[in-house]
Amino acid sequence: MKIRSELLRAILESAKETYPYEFIALLTGDKGVIKELIFLPSISSKEIALIHLDMLPIGIRIYGTVHSHPSPCCEPSEEDFYFFTKFGKIHIIVCYPFTMKDWKCFDSRGEEIEIEIEQ
Ligand SMILES: [Zn+2]
Repeated sequence: MKIRSELLRAILESAKETYPYEFIALLTGDKGVIKELIFLPSISSKEIALIHLDMLPIGIRIYGTVHSHPSPCCEPSEEDFYFFTKFGKIHIIVCYPFTMKDWKCFDSRGEEIEIEIEQ
């Protein structure tokens, strides 16, 4: 699995703009490359877990989720672990101050994984 570097930059930008609130989006793309975000209303990860996949456009492949933490901690919270099991396999957390180093990626069990950045 890979993520476009420009998308990662856009994610960090959005997290900065939304700060101190949480930013949440779903990750989509094709051929194993995450290319786009599906923005969701600004709600918490607890609330997002209640969103049904049938509310999403048909034919969209959801690779996973991304959300921001307003603290310098990129570790998933208790709620995050639950929410990771709901949508896709790749879960990115970006944390304050949202530089290119302030992010981590997890699988649906909350184990940290590496993904490649595609230039
Ligand atoms: Zn979180």
